[in-house]
Amino acid sequence: VITAMSRPMINHRGPEFAALFKELVEGLQWALRTRNDVLLFPASGTGGLEAAVVNLLSPDEQVLFCTIGSFGDRWANIAAGYGADVVRLEMPWGQAVVPEDVGRVLDEHPSINQVFVTHNETSTGVTNPLADIANVVKSREKILAVDSVSGASCLPLNTDDLGIDVLVTGSQKGWMAPPGLTMAVVSEAAYAVSARAKCPRWYFDFARERKYQERGQTYTTPPIVEMRAVAEGIAMLREEGLENAWTRHSTVAEMVRTGMEALGCSLFAAPDCRSNTVTAIDNPTGSPEKLKELLALLRTTYGLVLAGGQDKAQGQIFRIGHLGMIDEAAVYDIFDALEQGMRDVGVITDTGAGLAAAREVARRGAVAVG
Ligand SMILES: *Cc1c(COP(=O)(O)O)cnc(C)c1O
Repeated sequence: VITAMSRPMINHRGPEFAALFKELVEGLQWALRTRNDVLLFPASGTGGLEAAVVNLLSPDEQVLFCTIGSFGDRWANIAAGYGADVVRLEMPWGQAVVPEDVGRVLDEHPSINQVFVTHNETSTGVTNPLADIANVVKSREKILAVDSVSGASCLPLNTDDLGIDVLVTGSQKGWMAPPGLTMAVVSEAAYAVSARAKCPRWYFDFARERKYQERGQTYTTPPIVEMRAVAEGIAMLREEGLENAWTRHSTVAEMVRTGMEALGCSLFAAPDCRSNTVTAIDNPTGSPEKLKELLALLRTTYGLVLAGGQDKAQGQIFRIGHLGMIDEAAVYDIFDALEQGMRDVGVITDTGAGLAAAREVARRGAVAVG
Protein backbone atom coordinates (compact mmCIF):
# COMPACT_ATOMS: atom_id res chain seq x y z
CA VAL A 1 0.00 0.00 0.00
CA ILE A 2 2.78 2.40 0.90
CA THR A 3 4.51 1.70 -2.40
CA ALA A 4 1.27 2.32 -4.29
CA MET A 5 0.90 5.62 -2.46
CA SER A 6 4.40 6.84 -3.20
CA ARG A 7 4.10 7.02 -7.00
CA PRO A 8 4.19 10.41 -8.74
CA MET A 9 0.97 12.31 -9.30
CA ILE A 10 -1.13 12.01 -12.46
CA ASN A 11 -3.59 14.30 -14.19
CA HIS A 12 -7.00 13.63 -12.71
CA ARG A 13 -8.66 14.48 -16.05
CA GLY A 14 -6.42 12.12 -18.03
CA PRO A 15 -6.43 8.46 -19.15
CA GLU A 16 -4.23 7.15 -16.30
CA PHE A 17 -6.72 8.46 -13.81
CA ALA A 18 -9.63 6.92 -15.72
CA ALA A 19 -7.87 3.54 -15.44
CA LEU A 20 -7.33 3.96 -11.69
CA PHE A 21 -10.92 5.06 -11.23
CA LYS A 22 -12.21 2.02 -13.13
CA GLU A 23 -10.01 -0.39 -11.18
CA LEU A 24 -11.13 1.09 -7.86
CA VAL A 25 -14.86 1.20 -8.58
CA GLU A 26 -14.90 -2.32 -10.01
CA GLY A 27 -12.94 -3.51 -6.97
CA LEU A 28 -15.38 -1.86 -4.59
CA GLN A 29 -18.34 -3.37 -6.46
CA TRP A 30 -16.69 -6.76 -6.15
CA ALA A 31 -15.95 -6.40 -2.43
CA LEU A 32 -19.34 -4.91 -1.58
CA ARG A 33 -21.24 -7.31 -3.84
CA THR A 34 -23.10 -4.62 -5.71
CA ARG A 35 -23.79 -3.61 -9.31
CA ASN A 36 -24.82 -0.11 -8.29
CA ASP A 37 -22.66 2.99 -8.63
CA VAL A 38 -20.00 3.62 -6.00
CA LEU A 39 -19.60 7.39 -5.68
CA LEU A 40 -16.29 8.69 -4.34
CA PHE A 41 -15.88 11.88 -2.33
CA PRO A 42 -12.77 13.34 -0.72
CA ALA A 43 -13.85 13.28 2.93
CA SER A 44 -13.64 11.16 6.07
CA GLY A 45 -16.40 8.66 6.76
CA THR A 46 -18.51 11.33 8.42
CA GLY A 47 -18.64 13.12 5.07
CA GLY A 48 -20.19 9.99 3.60
CA LEU A 49 -22.76 9.94 6.42
CA GLU A 50 -23.61 13.57 5.66
CA ALA A 51 -23.83 12.79 1.92
CA ALA A 52 -26.47 10.13 2.62
CA VAL A 53 -28.50 12.52 4.76
CA VAL A 54 -28.47 15.51 2.38
CA ASN A 55 -29.27 13.40 -0.68
CA LEU A 56 -32.07 11.34 0.86
CA LEU A 57 -33.90 13.67 3.23
CA SER A 58 -35.94 16.86 3.27
CA PRO A 59 -36.37 19.25 6.21
CA ASP A 60 -39.29 18.18 8.45
CA GLU A 61 -39.40 14.74 6.86
CA GLN A 62 -39.94 12.00 9.43
CA VAL A 63 -37.14 9.42 9.32
CA LEU A 64 -35.97 6.50 11.47
CA PHE A 65 -32.42 6.26 12.81
CA CYS A 66 -31.48 3.07 14.64
CA THR A 67 -28.68 4.03 17.00
CA ILE A 68 -26.75 1.81 19.37
CA GLY A 69 -23.74 4.01 20.07
CA SER A 70 -21.66 7.02 19.26
CA PHE A 71 -21.59 6.71 15.45
CA GLY A 72 -25.32 6.01 15.25
CA ASP A 73 -25.91 9.12 17.37
CA ARG A 74 -23.64 11.12 15.07
CA TRP A 75 -25.64 10.13 11.98
CA ALA A 76 -28.97 10.97 13.66
CA ASN A 77 -27.53 14.30 14.80
CA ILE A 78 -26.47 15.17 11.25
CA ALA A 79 -30.06 14.60 10.08
CA ALA A 80 -31.43 16.62 12.99
CA GLY A 81 -28.96 19.36 12.09
CA TYR A 82 -30.49 19.51 8.61
CA GLY A 83 -33.97 19.81 10.12
CA ALA A 84 -35.28 16.28 9.60
CA ASP A 85 -37.88 14.98 12.06
CA VAL A 86 -35.70 12.25 13.54
CA VAL A 87 -37.29 9.26 15.26
CA ARG A 88 -34.59 7.40 17.20
CA LEU A 89 -34.73 3.70 17.94
CA GLU A 90 -32.04 3.42 20.61
CA MET A 91 -30.56 0.49 22.45
CA PRO A 92 -28.48 0.49 25.62
CA TRP A 93 -24.80 0.60 24.67
CA GLY A 94 -23.41 -2.87 24.18
CA GLN A 95 -26.58 -4.23 22.61
CA ALA A 96 -27.75 -4.63 19.02
CA VAL A 97 -30.92 -3.43 17.31
CA VAL A 98 -33.82 -5.87 17.63
CA PRO A 99 -35.19 -6.24 14.07
CA GLU A 100 -38.79 -6.66 15.32
CA ASP A 101 -38.51 -3.26 17.02
CA VAL A 102 -37.69 -1.68 13.66
CA GLY A 103 -40.87 -3.22 12.23
CA ARG A 104 -42.91 -1.98 15.18
CA VAL A 105 -41.64 1.61 14.87
CA LEU A 106 -42.26 1.61 11.12
CA ASP A 107 -45.81 0.33 11.67
CA GLU A 108 -46.40 3.04 14.30
CA HIS A 109 -45.06 5.78 11.99
CA PRO A 110 -46.44 5.04 8.51
CA SER A 111 -45.10 8.36 7.18
CA ILE A 112 -41.49 7.16 7.62
CA ASN A 113 -40.04 6.10 4.28
CA GLN A 114 -36.36 5.86 5.15
CA VAL A 115 -34.33 3.94 7.70
CA PHE A 116 -30.71 4.62 8.67
CA VAL A 117 -28.73 1.96 10.50
CA THR A 118 -25.13 1.34 11.59
CA HIS A 119 -23.76 -2.01 10.44
CA ASN A 120 -20.93 -2.19 12.95
CA GLU A 121 -20.93 0.21 15.92
CA THR A 122 -17.26 0.93 16.56
CA SER A 123 -17.85 2.73 19.86
CA THR A 124 -19.34 -0.34 21.55
CA GLY A 125 -17.94 -3.28 19.59
CA VAL A 126 -21.39 -4.39 18.44
CA THR A 127 -22.44 -5.71 15.02
CA ASN A 128 -26.11 -5.30 14.17
CA PRO A 129 -28.08 -8.19 12.60
CA LEU A 130 -28.05 -6.31 9.30
CA ALA A 131 -29.67 -9.01 7.15
CA ASP A 132 -32.67 -9.30 9.49
CA ILE A 133 -33.01 -5.52 9.78
CA ALA A 134 -32.80 -5.15 6.00
CA ASN A 135 -35.49 -7.79 5.63
CA VAL A 136 -37.84 -5.83 7.92
CA VAL A 137 -37.15 -2.55 6.12
CA LYS A 138 -37.32 -3.85 2.56
CA SER A 139 -40.45 -5.97 3.14
CA ARG A 140 -42.13 -2.62 3.90
CA GLU A 141 -40.56 -1.11 0.77
CA LYS A 142 -38.63 1.61 2.62
CA ILE A 143 -35.30 3.14 1.66
CA LEU A 144 -32.39 1.66 3.64
CA ALA A 145 -29.14 3.53 4.33
CA VAL A 146 -26.28 1.75 6.09
CA ASP A 147 -23.09 3.00 7.77
CA SER A 148 -20.55 0.24 7.18
CA VAL A 149 -17.43 2.33 7.72
CA SER A 150 -16.02 -0.24 10.16
CA GLY A 151 -17.65 -3.34 8.69
CA ALA A 152 -17.20 -3.31 4.92
CA SER A 153 -14.64 -5.78 3.55
CA CYS A 154 -14.26 -7.43 6.98
CA LEU A 155 -17.78 -8.61 7.82
CA PRO A 156 -20.19 -10.52 5.57
CA LEU A 157 -21.97 -7.92 3.46
CA ASN A 158 -24.04 -8.57 0.34
CA THR A 159 -25.14 -5.04 -0.45
CA ASP A 160 -27.52 -5.81 -3.35
CA ASP A 161 -29.00 -9.00 -1.89
CA LEU A 162 -29.96 -7.02 1.21
CA GLY A 163 -31.50 -4.27 -0.93
CA ILE A 164 -29.34 -1.56 0.62
CA ASP A 165 -29.98 1.79 -1.12
CA VAL A 166 -27.05 3.78 0.23
CA LEU A 167 -24.04 2.14 1.84
CA VAL A 168 -21.32 4.37 3.25
CA THR A 169 -17.76 3.29 3.90
CA GLY A 170 -14.41 4.99 4.43
CA SER A 171 -10.85 4.32 3.36
CA GLN A 172 -9.16 4.04 6.74
CA LYS A 173 -10.74 0.97 8.32
CA GLY A 174 -11.18 -2.36 6.55
CA TRP A 175 -9.69 -1.12 3.28
CA MET A 176 -6.18 -0.89 4.79
CA ALA A 177 -5.63 2.65 3.53
CA PRO A 178 -5.15 6.06 5.15
CA PRO A 179 -8.13 8.34 5.89
CA GLY A 180 -9.45 10.79 3.32
CA LEU A 181 -11.75 8.94 0.91
CA THR A 182 -15.38 8.12 1.54
CA MET A 183 -17.28 5.80 -0.75
CA ALA A 184 -21.05 5.49 -1.13
CA VAL A 185 -22.97 2.78 -2.98
CA VAL A 186 -26.10 4.41 -4.42
CA SER A 187 -29.09 2.48 -5.82
CA GLU A 188 -31.42 3.72 -8.57
CA ALA A 189 -34.13 4.11 -5.93
CA ALA A 190 -31.78 6.29 -3.89
CA TYR A 191 -31.05 8.50 -6.93
CA ALA A 192 -34.80 8.89 -7.44
CA VAL A 193 -35.28 9.93 -3.81
CA SER A 194 -32.33 12.27 -4.14
CA ALA A 195 -33.92 14.05 -7.10
CA ARG A 196 -36.85 15.04 -4.84
CA ALA A 197 -35.00 15.52 -1.54
CA LYS A 198 -34.90 19.14 -0.36
CA CYS A 199 -32.00 19.23 2.11
CA PRO A 200 -29.52 21.93 1.07
CA ARG A 201 -26.44 20.40 -0.53
CA TRP A 202 -23.59 21.19 -2.85
CA TYR A 203 -20.33 19.29 -2.34
CA PHE A 204 -22.03 15.94 -1.78
CA ASP A 205 -24.65 16.09 -4.55
CA PHE A 206 -25.16 12.54 -5.86
CA ALA A 207 -26.61 13.50 -9.27
CA ARG A 208 -23.73 15.76 -10.27
CA GLU A 209 -21.13 13.33 -9.00
CA ARG A 210 -22.77 10.52 -10.96
CA LYS A 211 -22.58 12.56 -14.16
CA TYR A 212 -18.83 13.04 -13.78
CA GLN A 213 -18.13 9.50 -12.66
CA GLU A 214 -19.92 8.10 -15.73
CA ARG A 215 -17.04 9.69 -17.65
CA GLY A 216 -14.38 8.19 -15.35
CA GLN A 217 -13.77 11.43 -13.46
CA THR A 218 -14.82 13.03 -10.20
CA TYR A 219 -16.35 16.50 -9.93
CA THR A 220 -13.65 17.89 -7.63
CA THR A 221 -9.98 17.01 -7.61
CA PRO A 222 -9.91 13.46 -6.20
CA PRO A 223 -7.65 12.15 -3.40
CA ILE A 224 -5.47 10.17 -5.83
CA VAL A 225 -3.12 8.87 -3.12
CA GLU A 226 -5.98 7.44 -1.04
CA MET A 227 -7.59 5.98 -4.16
CA ARG A 228 -4.38 4.14 -5.04
CA ALA A 229 -4.13 2.90 -1.47
CA VAL A 230 -7.67 1.51 -1.41
CA ALA A 231 -7.16 -0.06 -4.86
CA GLU A 232 -4.08 -1.84 -3.51
CA GLY A 233 -5.98 -2.91 -0.38
CA ILE A 234 -8.62 -4.44 -2.65
CA ALA A 235 -5.94 -6.15 -4.74
CA MET A 236 -4.74 -7.78 -1.51
CA LEU A 237 -8.30 -8.84 -0.68
CA ARG A 238 -8.66 -10.35 -4.17
CA GLU A 239 -5.52 -12.41 -3.61
CA GLU A 240 -6.79 -13.65 -0.28
CA GLY A 241 -10.42 -14.12 -1.33
CA LEU A 242 -13.21 -12.07 0.19
CA GLU A 243 -14.76 -14.87 2.21
CA ASN A 244 -11.33 -15.88 3.49
CA ALA A 245 -10.88 -12.31 4.72
CA TRP A 246 -14.22 -12.50 6.53
CA THR A 247 -13.13 -15.79 8.15
CA ARG A 248 -9.76 -14.29 9.11
CA HIS A 249 -11.56 -11.49 10.96
CA SER A 250 -13.84 -14.01 12.64
CA THR A 251 -10.88 -16.10 13.81
CA VAL A 252 -8.82 -13.14 15.00
CA ALA A 253 -11.81 -11.70 16.89
CA GLU A 254 -12.47 -15.00 18.64
CA MET A 255 -8.80 -15.13 19.64
CA VAL A 256 -9.02 -11.62 21.12
CA ARG A 257 -12.27 -12.28 22.98
CA THR A 258 -11.12 -15.62 24.39
CA GLY A 259 -7.74 -14.21 25.39
CA MET A 260 -9.29 -11.24 27.20
CA GLU A 261 -11.69 -13.46 29.11
CA ALA A 262 -8.79 -15.72 30.07
CA LEU A 263 -7.21 -12.64 31.66
CA GLY A 264 -10.30 -12.22 33.83
CA CYS A 265 -11.72 -9.34 31.81
CA SER A 266 -15.37 -9.03 30.85
CA LEU A 267 -16.48 -7.99 27.40
CA PHE A 268 -18.72 -4.95 27.04
CA ALA A 269 -20.92 -6.16 24.17
CA ALA A 270 -23.68 -8.73 24.66
CA PRO A 271 -22.56 -12.24 23.63
CA ASP A 272 -24.76 -12.59 20.55
CA CYS A 273 -23.68 -9.38 18.81
CA ARG A 274 -19.94 -9.04 19.40
CA SER A 275 -18.08 -7.45 16.52
CA ASN A 276 -15.39 -9.23 14.54
CA THR A 277 -13.61 -5.93 13.82
CA VAL A 278 -13.40 -4.27 17.24
CA THR A 279 -13.63 -5.62 20.79
CA ALA A 280 -14.76 -3.44 23.67
CA ILE A 281 -13.58 -4.54 27.11
CA ASP A 282 -14.89 -3.38 30.48
CA ASN A 283 -12.31 -1.31 32.32
CA PRO A 284 -10.40 -3.90 34.39
CA THR A 285 -8.34 -1.40 36.39
CA GLY A 286 -10.95 -0.13 38.84
CA SER A 287 -10.89 3.52 37.86
CA PRO A 288 -10.90 5.78 34.78
CA GLU A 289 -7.54 7.27 35.89
CA LYS A 290 -5.89 3.87 36.14
CA LEU A 291 -7.22 2.92 32.70
CA LYS A 292 -5.70 6.08 31.27
CA GLU A 293 -2.41 5.11 32.89
CA LEU A 294 -2.59 1.61 31.37
CA LEU A 295 -3.31 2.91 27.86
CA ALA A 296 -0.47 5.46 28.12
CA LEU A 297 1.95 2.80 29.36
CA LEU A 298 1.00 0.47 26.51
CA ARG A 299 1.60 3.23 24.00
CA THR A 300 4.88 4.55 25.37
CA THR A 301 6.56 1.42 26.72
CA TYR A 302 5.12 -1.44 24.72
CA GLY A 303 4.30 0.18 21.37
CA LEU A 304 0.65 -0.85 21.46
CA VAL A 305 -2.00 1.78 20.71
CA LEU A 306 -5.44 0.90 22.08
CA ALA A 307 -8.47 3.17 22.26
CA GLY A 308 -10.47 4.19 25.30
CA GLY A 309 -14.24 4.64 25.27
CA GLN A 310 -16.09 7.37 23.38
CA ASP A 311 -18.68 9.75 24.85
CA LYS A 312 -20.52 8.13 27.74
CA ALA A 313 -18.30 5.01 27.60
CA GLN A 314 -15.22 7.11 28.38
CA GLY A 315 -13.35 5.61 31.34
CA GLN A 316 -15.72 2.61 31.28
CA ILE A 317 -14.16 0.56 28.50
CA PHE A 318 -11.16 0.23 26.24
CA ARG A 319 -11.17 -1.09 22.69
CA ILE A 320 -8.93 -3.28 20.57
CA GLY A 321 -9.26 -2.68 16.84
CA HIS A 322 -8.65 -5.84 14.81
CA LEU A 323 -9.62 -5.11 11.24
CA GLY A 324 -7.96 -4.75 7.89
CA MET A 325 -4.25 -5.55 8.13
CA ILE A 326 -4.55 -8.05 10.98
CA ASP A 327 -3.57 -11.68 11.41
CA GLU A 328 -2.95 -14.29 14.10
CA ALA A 329 0.64 -13.16 14.64
CA ALA A 330 -0.57 -9.63 15.31
CA VAL A 331 -2.90 -10.96 18.01
CA TYR A 332 0.06 -12.59 19.76
CA ASP A 333 1.88 -9.26 19.66
CA ILE A 334 -1.18 -7.55 21.13
CA PHE A 335 -1.37 -9.98 24.06
CA ASP A 336 2.36 -9.91 24.65
CA ALA A 337 2.27 -6.14 25.08
CA LEU A 338 -1.11 -5.91 26.78
CA GLU A 339 -0.34 -8.50 29.43
CA GLN A 340 2.92 -6.80 30.38
CA GLY A 341 1.09 -3.51 30.73
CA MET A 342 -1.69 -5.07 32.78
CA ARG A 343 0.90 -6.65 35.05
CA ASP A 344 2.77 -3.36 35.46
CA VAL A 345 -0.39 -1.56 36.65
CA GLY A 346 -1.32 -4.48 38.92
CA VAL A 347 -4.39 -5.85 37.11
CA ILE A 348 -2.79 -9.29 36.74
CA THR A 349 0.14 -10.92 38.51
CA ASP A 350 1.33 -13.35 35.86
CA THR A 351 1.52 -12.89 32.10
CA GLY A 352 0.76 -15.51 29.48
CA ALA A 353 -2.81 -16.66 30.11
CA GLY A 354 -4.35 -14.47 27.40
CA LEU A 355 -1.77 -15.35 24.81
CA ALA A 356 -2.11 -19.07 25.58
CA ALA A 357 -5.90 -18.92 25.28
CA ALA A 358 -5.66 -17.05 21.96
CA ARG A 359 -3.16 -19.61 20.71
CA GLU A 360 -5.53 -22.43 21.63
CA VAL A 361 -8.33 -20.82 19.57
CA ALA A 362 -6.00 -20.56 16.57
CA ARG A 363 -4.81 -24.14 17.04
CA ARG A 364 -8.39 -25.40 16.72
CA GLY A 365 -8.57 -23.78 13.27
CA ALA A 366 -10.52 -21.11 11.43
CA VAL A 367 -13.67 -19.81 13.11
CA ALA A 368 -16.56 -19.75 10.64
CA VAL A 369 -18.35 -16.41 10.26
CA GLY A 370 -21.53 -16.50 12.30
C1 LIG B 1 -14.85 5.54 11.75
C2 LIG B 1 -16.33 5.51 11.61
C3 LIG B 1 -17.06 6.52 10.96
C4 LIG B 1 -16.42 7.69 10.27
O1 LIG B 1 -15.59 8.43 11.02
P1 LIG B 1 -14.55 9.46 10.35
O2 LIG B 1 -13.67 9.80 11.50
O3 LIG B 1 -15.34 10.62 9.87
O4 LIG B 1 -13.88 8.74 9.24
C5 LIG B 1 -18.42 6.38 10.84
N1 LIG B 1 -19.06 5.33 11.34
C6 LIG B 1 -18.42 4.33 11.97
C7 LIG B 1 -19.19 3.18 12.47
C8 LIG B 1 -17.02 4.40 12.13
O5 LIG B 1 -16.38 3.41 12.75
